[in-house]
Amino acid sequence: MPLLRFDAVSKLYPGGHEALSGLSFDLERGEMVFVTGHSGAGKSTLLRLIHRAERASRGAVLFEGRNLGQLSVREVPYARRRIGMVFQDHRLLVDRSLFDNVALPLLIAGVARAEIERRVRTALERVGLLARERSLPLALSAGEQQRVGIARAIVAQPPLLLADEPTGNLDPQLAEDIMRLFSELPAQGTAVLVASHDLHLVRRLGKRVLVLDHGRLADDFRPQVRA
Ligand code: ADP
Repeated sequence: MPLLRFDAVSKLYPGGHEALSGLSFDLERGEMVFVTGHSGAGKSTLLRLIHRAERASRGAVLFEGRNLGQLSVREVPYARRRIGMVFQDHRLLVDRSLFDNVALPLLIAGVARAEIERRVRTALERVGLLARERSLPLALSAGEQQRVGIARAIVAQPPLLLADEPTGNLDPQLAEDIMRLFSELPAQGTAVLVASHDLHLVRRLGKRVLVLDHGRLADDFRPQVRA
């Protein structure tokens, strides 16, 4: 069973606009994929279906074998705990330290204090910010803030991590650094799905790329990267 399956998924928004049309693909455990395409191609809609902010109009989105469209209101938060989310504007609490920001999902989940300390330090280490654990977010650069957002999204060790245009506010060099960080996460067992309009950047990373064009899957390939 794949971790995530889109099976002939269409999404019509009220007003009749078809944002996704007959979309099918699988994502395996620990796999990395970039979703790219023009503005309005359907990238955010695809992510919103996985996060259950929206439901498919036709077809099915299966996560760990369960049809997300059929979850009850009470079941949605449990499914979301298994899916980490990185936001473009990272949404950090500015009056809390990096440690506290990253610890938040574990506090909410009721994880014991010693376990929280261990996992937060592991997550901060993975994004290269362990030495800054006591800093406040505003003392960091934009790229570092985005790294904290990634640490917070992976700290509960979800099987799937989603990111919607995570480098939209960063300059090109920082954007590439952050994308490389995402592309290294699957080695730790987390599947990662990142939406980005920047096809040139994602091609350089040598990972699987899905290309959306007006809601349809136009391509599904793995670029050859020159050594
Ligand atoms: P992308 O993330 O690739 O820019 P979106 O998924 O945001 O694309 O949008 C896909 C299409 O669906 C666009 O034509 C957009 O205008 C439309 N759309 C997105 N959200 C809504 C909504 N809430 N209501 C109606 N149409 C929407």
